[in-house]
Amino acid sequence: MKLYSTNNKSLSVDFETAVFNSLPADKGLYMPSVFPQIDKDLIANWDKKTFPEIALDIAYTLLKDDISKEALKAIVDEAIDFDAPLNQLERGLYILELFHGPSLAFKDFGARFMSRIMAHFLKRQKREITILVATSGDTGGAVALGFLNVEGIKVTILYPKGKVSPIQELQLTTNGNNIEAIAIDGTFDDCQALVKKAFHDEDLNKKLNLTSANSINISRLIPQMFYYANTYSKLKNKYKNLIFATPSGNFGNIAAGMMAHKMGLPITRFIAATNSNDIVPEYLETGIYTARPSVQTLANAMDVGNPSNFVRILDMFDHDLGKLKTKLSGYAYTDEEIRSAINYVYKTNTYLVCPHTATGCLAVASDKLIHTDIEVDETAYIVLATAHPCKFPDVFDELRIHIDEPEKVKELYNKENKSLDMNNSFNDFKAYLMK
Ligand SMILES: *Cc1c(COP(=O)(O)O)cnc(C)c1O
Repeated sequence: MKLYSTNNKSLSVDFETAVFNSLPADKGLYMPSVFPQIDKDLIANWDKKTFPEIALDIAYTLLKDDISKEALKAIVDEAIDFDAPLNQLERGLYILELFHGPSLAFKDFGARFMSRIMAHFLKRQKREITILVATSGDTGGAVALGFLNVEGIKVTILYPKGKVSPIQELQLTTNGNNIEAIAIDGTFDDCQALVKKAFHDEDLNKKLNLTSANSINISRLIPQMFYYANTYSKLKNKYKNLIFATPSGNFGNIAAGMMAHKMGLPITRFIAATNSNDIVPEYLETGIYTARPSVQTLANAMDVGNPSNFVRILDMFDHDLGKLKTKLSGYAYTDEEIRSAINYVYKTNTYLVCPHTATGCLAVASDKLIHTDIEVDETAYIVLATAHPCKFPDVFDELRIHIDEPEKVKELYNKENKSLDMNNSFNDFKAYLMK
């Protein structure tokens, strides 16, 4: 696969380069120069295939020039060793549970696949790298658990102090070994700004071989296409139209779905659901994109004031707002609405959704009111459940709903928080990394 920069379409790098650079030097984002089309016969037979088999079909369609089929199969089988079950709430409404991996959030798909892709290439390169990540909560845990004890890779994770949930904090701070967590006195945007600055700093790059694991890395987006395809294969004989509602922050997850669509996956439409950080829904309505500082919400993994991956979506639609709006809708919700949606889904379906997933449920309801022309019997809405509700216990305490914690969470409470406190000055951060 060859990739260009969203800022320079004449650039052409191979997949390995894009994975380790993470960002092109011109500060655009890497995108495939051509979206190879998934073989129609393959797609037609997906209802007879397993999730890892479908995943391999997509990965190999993209990466056949970069990694042998055997090696890719081993990477996919090891990375995608947990399921993404589809839970039907009612006719035409499904919850796609993406929280059965080690950190109980969908980011496990990206982190586990990326770590194994990198390990594959590093074996040949014989060098060491430092992964630098900013997290608003869930990236950190997924990356920490996805890279723990991977040889030749050190991981440094920045998170906004006091702005991630207790379980998220334990998942990213208790690992030790090759995983280091830094609590920044600031917001996620501050953390992201520090990381972006570090990547453009010559001294740091020379010393540390800095590599990103954020959702801007192309190798994280690829495995996020897998579950859209797997869901399609399960529902394609039951419905004519599939509409995915994706709770969105940095817009990597929804960008991946739209990339799969661009490779030929028949999806009718996408819905971006956001919290009060409504930059994209506002853009879709007004045509004006206004980045601004993020505000803190109940769905804190989506507290993003300038979604990095949105430029990838614009790129796929040649920055044509009219064209984009035929495939993408966007809706934003307040904390109050999120709380009442959690309650409503619980009471109606005895099903517990996390605050992020709740925005997706709300977006389906909004979408049905606006798109009154949909063929009700022929259409399935699929809400991506991006995290297990137990990662956000405060909300459920307030609502007096009890959540059972999985075993892997209970084990965390006996572990020590090994994080380091730091302010949000780049000079201090750089001095620390250079020492
Ligand atoms: C990261 C995250 C999101 C947002 O995903 P993006 O790819 O950044 O849009 C939504 N929900 C949860 C639980 C997350 O961890």
